[in-house]
Amino acid sequence: MQANVQISSGRIVSVGKKKPDSDLEIEATGLALTPGFIDAHGHSDISIIAAPEANSKVAQGITTEVSGNCGLSPFPVNELNREHLKQLYENYNCPIEWSDFSSYCRAVEIRCPALNIAPLCGHNTLRAAINGYSNSKLTPKQISETVTLLQTQLKQGATGLSSGLLYTPGCFSNSDEITALLAALMPFGRPYATHLRSEGNQLIEAIEEAVDSCIAAGQPHLHISHLKTSGKKNWGKLDEALELINKAPLRITADRYPYTESMTQLSIILPDNLASMPNEALSDYLQSEINANTVKAELRKYPAERWQTCRLVSTSAPRFKTMNGKLLAEFSDPAAVCVEIWRTDRSGAMAAFSAMSPDNLRKILRLEFVACGSDESARPLDYSFGVSHPRGFGSFPEFVRLLNGILSKEEIVRRMTSLPASIFNLTGRGMIKPGYHADLVLLDWQEYCSNADFNTPHQLASGVKLVLVNGIPAYGAAAPTPIARSGKILKPQLKEML
Ligand SMILES: [Zn+2]
Repeated sequence: MQANVQISSGRIVSVGKKKPDSDLEIEATGLALTPGFIDAHGHSDISIIAAPEANSKVAQGITTEVSGNCGLSPFPVNELNREHLKQLYENYNCPIEWSDFSSYCRAVEIRCPALNIAPLCGHNTLRAAINGYSNSKLTPKQISETVTLLQTQLKQGATGLSSGLLYTPGCFSNSDEITALLAALMPFGRPYATHLRSEGNQLIEAIEEAVDSCIAAGQPHLHISHLKTSGKKNWGKLDEALELINKAPLRITADRYPYTESMTQLSIILPDNLASMPNEALSDYLQSEINANTVKAELRKYPAERWQTCRLVSTSAPRFKTMNGKLLAEFSDPAAVCVEIWRTDRSGAMAAFSAMSPDNLRKILRLEFVACGSDESARPLDYSFGVSHPRGFGSFPEFVRLLNGILSKEEIVRRMTSLPASIFNLTGRGMIKPGYHADLVLLDWQEYCSNADFNTPHQLASGVKLVLVNGIPAYGAAAPTPIARSGKILKPQLKEML
């Protein structure tokens, strides 16, 4: 529909045919005005402090990100997990000096982020604050301490609970522990977002586990992060997974990034004992000719098909640093290339792996309960904090491209706005309605596209003319005043009983 939208003091005041009196008018004929896009799955926990401009995201029209995903949140922090988090975020040069949700929020707010942030509390960080990164089961006393610590973060305003049951130390948790946390989450009415314990070989069992834990705890809403069937031999499991989701007596929602390649360290293709080595130790290990030759011989046993699914994304190894974006299959001896890279690149080479089915991606994106989530942190244009997967700069335009002609524009926009707002209880956001916050995007649908790929991943999206965050211009050629950073930390209304 065509309408005039009036905003004042950060809120939408009116939407209608009648042209209101205003101090400032923006003519938008021929363009589309949508609610600001909500990234249902982000990892800007520290990058939003280190680079609050969030260029990669605002250029796509993203005005809010749900952060703290996959069990990894930047709070609560204490002497048991601070060192680990410092190492993990070493690149960002950002002192981790806060302790709980409230003090983390102050560290973000002081930097004036360009977009709104809704942080989930991550189970891995939470568990590590009670039991470190050891592989032991929690005792009943430790479970109750973890519950109390979660309640504190939720009372302070954390958006919900996330888990990453594939990662340390969440992978050591059992159902008693998860159920106890979900029972503590339930009275707050907030979502549980899980990176399932398995997304491939044990996908069905992992969905069953997530559903059973929610039922046992009385938690009515389960959100599955980056829903996928990982690994070719698991591509056929999608129908069974969807049947399980449909028949579960719960509200189940999901998010997905619109790509079939994941990105991680190149070294994960090594046998387990070497893949788990820190990058520098691996480099040292391969300085020995005997070790290097043994590893090469091992890698040469891999079927040729394997190298077709693996793409070099970034390396500082001198002979290969101009070859980013190449498939390993394009080299005559991929095993020798890998060994040379690990030997000389002590900071660790990154690679993309295409283990996901393009057909399943399309099927998943069509599902009415699936929101768009980038699974990336906000990045600057330069590579100062490392190399992003192209999804960091292109997820939203790619989501639109893949669904264009399949779903209506209105439905595609709903999945990027009011659906994630409802999943994460982002009250007053995700729609263009009087009283709602003025998070708005003005864009040209014809021009809206991603310019990022694995060769040049840090390229801003095209087609977005203006982004308003809380009524203030955050990005765009049509911005009438100097660009400002006006994002907030979004906190749910606290229920009286709590
Ligand atoms: Zn994840």
